[in-house]
Amino acid sequence: MRVFSGIQPTGIPHLGNYLGAITNWVKLQQAHECFYSIVDLHAITIQQDPELLQRNTAEMAAALIACGIKKENLFRQSKVSQHSELGWILFCHTPVSWLTRMHQWQTKSQKNEKKLGLLSYPVLQAADILLYKANLVPVGEDQLQHLNLTNDISKSFNSTYKPVFKEIKGLFSSDKSKRIMSLRNPLVKMSKSDIDASRINITDSPDLIKKKISKSVTDSISGISYQNDRPGITNLLHILMSIQDLQSEKWNLDLPELQSKVEQEFGNKSTQEFKKIVIDEIVQHLDPIREKFNETRHIVDTIIANGENRAGKVASSTLAEVHDALGLK
Ligand code: ATP
Ligand code: MG
Repeated sequence: MRVFSGIQPTGIPHLGNYLGAITNWVKLQQAHECFYSIVDLHAITIQQDPELLQRNTAEMAAALIACGIKKENLFRQSKVSQHSELGWILFCHTPVSWLTRMHQWQTKSQKNEKKLGLLSYPVLQAADILLYKANLVPVGEDQLQHLNLTNDISKSFNSTYKPVFKEIKGLFSSDKSKRIMSLRNPLVKMSKSDIDASRINITDSPDLIKKKISKSVTDSISGISYQNDRPGITNLLHILMSIQDLQSEKWNLDLPELQSKVEQEFGNKSTQEFKKIVIDEIVQHLDPIREKFNETRHIVDTIIANGENRAGKVASSTLAEVHDALGLK
């Protein structure tokens, strides 16, 4: 099977990116052909400082390698020019009405200038995936609508021209980790573009992790329980359980069993005691990742060039088929 996914170089990955997507990326490498892109052309849909973008890109590569992504599977989107070329071709094929209904456009266009790139980037995302004829796309839940759009675009292209593209399937993490929420507002997802205190970056120091979790928004109900109406506690439980599940699948239970196991383990703990358990688990898990990141961050420039070569070969072969289908010979 062929796997494609991407991440924007808009900051160090956080626990949402890690538990919702990157841990699946790592696992899939064992048995499948994987292409993982640092999607810098998506990052510029919102204005970036050039020096910062360059640093964020190098740090993203180092962070992904520190999480266990093989460097040969990694590449920068802007260095494989076929992404932009197929993007343009699909722009010519996609009705504007398909884009204005995207949730991300509706939210992001309220906070940023309404530029064409911001409206159309889900089409570039479709091009990213379709260039590799990927079968499987491991992402967080926030990307579901964009994956459906990708299938709509490819079906429409195939039936208008020639059957070049394949149907894609999203691969989501468990219900606990497919949408990790902000530490400052557990009703919105954790994001790189939100304030630093709202997320745990995977390279945060133990002190910083302690500070951020201690200040995370919870509620005033005493004891710990797993309930819909306790979004802050539920989010901390999801983080804890998802990290523990990476090793043991201990929390892979039906809802009633899960609720009684939470009650058993943490029912009589205060919020402060519980937060201490969450802090220790996160710190212990992220320690080796932070160390590896610090060793790798200075040498990444040279090591992803191979990945770009490899991706370019597959991308140019698909683009040739697309040119053929369109009569661009
Ligand atoms: P930005 O705020 O710049 O959009 P982001 O945190 O949303 O950053 P992306 O680079 O857009 O990160 O997404 C990378 C991957 O991480 C995608 O597969 C996305 O679905 C997933 N992801 C992002 N946030 C979360 C989250 N809070 N929980 C689970 N998965 C997430
Ligand atoms: Mg995002």
